Amino acid sequence: MSVSVKNISKFYGEQPALDDVSLEIKTGEIVGFLGPNGAGKSTMMKIISCFIPPSKGIVEVCGYNVMLDSIHVRKEVGYLPEHNPLYLEMYVKEYLEFIAGIHRIRSPWKRVSEMIGMVGLGPEQNKKIGALSKGYRQRVGLAQAMIHSPKVLILDEPTSGLDPNQLEDIRQLIKMIGTEKTVMLSTHIMQEVEAMCERIIIINRGRIVANDKTGVVRKKAETGTGNVVVVEFDKTVARNQLTPLKGIRDAENIKGNFWRIQATGKEDIRGIIFQFAVDRNLQVLTLQKEEKSLEDAFKELTGKKG
Ligand code: ADP
Ligand code: MG
Repeated sequence: MSVSVKNISKFYGEQPALDDVSLEIKTGEIVGFLGPNGAGKSTMMKIISCFIPPSKGIVEVCGYNVMLDSIHVRKEVGYLPEHNPLYLEMYVKEYLEFIAGIHRIRSPWKRVSEMIGMVGLGPEQNKKIGALSKGYRQRVGLAQAMIHSPKVLILDEPTSGLDPNQLEDIRQLIKMIGTEKTVMLSTHIMQEVEAMCERIIIINRGRIVANDKTGVVRKKAETGTGNVVVVEFDKTVARNQLTPLKGIRDAENIKGNFWRIQATGKEDIRGIIFQFAVDRNLQVLTLQKEEKSLEDAFKELTGKKG
């Protein structure tokens, strides 16, 4: 087990930020950590990285307790904070050598040039950090987080604020890094989790509301509200013709003869709709099951629906 969080609570003064949170991250996993603003993601990540202490509970990283053995924990953890604070006046190499010095790395020069190669900073390596694009600054942040060869990487919103190209590059880089390291990354972007993470942990108001394989979390949302089918008829249909049908909870006219029809449960209602059309001499021009997205799951679990 790389990260083990047991019954963690955190208060900032009176303000609760985490409420009895437990989670585990196995060695080699890439886990997505999701939640709305203020949910407690950064707080959790700061505790795992030994930046702030928990108010209650036990956190272990690679078997070391963050409160009792913080020196060891810091060796095993690389942390990329939210908003990636960097010294904009420093040169890329100068900064990374400075960080290497903090970690007392032998032959810092060698390690810095290795890191520059690993994160693809080659063309920008002689610039000041302030002169870099946001994407390249994130690469500096990732190099900083990995320079001491930690086993576990904690990345707090590593792709926020990047343009689509930079985003893709950084995702690729994290995916590559994830083949060798245990990674916990927080994000707002659902596709990111689908693309990169095997598991997803959703936190809301300081409590875990989902913790499962990405596909399973999406499935749970499907069962929550019942299946949805989108259908187009060739003629006008009234809502009160559709809603009395068995297995149908509601029907909503999208536009023209397009309807969005919700089932009462998990059953596939396409057959019922097709039969309805046949009985009334209507043609079905389109008939599709609407896939529930991870985003829907997120909205449902964090109560942000509608
Ligand atoms: P997230 O990263 O999910 O947006 P945070 O962990 O930053 O959430 O914040 C969780 C809660 O704790 C929020 O209500 C936030 O306002 C509060 N909080 C975070 N940091 C501090 C702090 N240093 N002092 C007081 N309250 C804080
Ligand atoms: Mg945050």
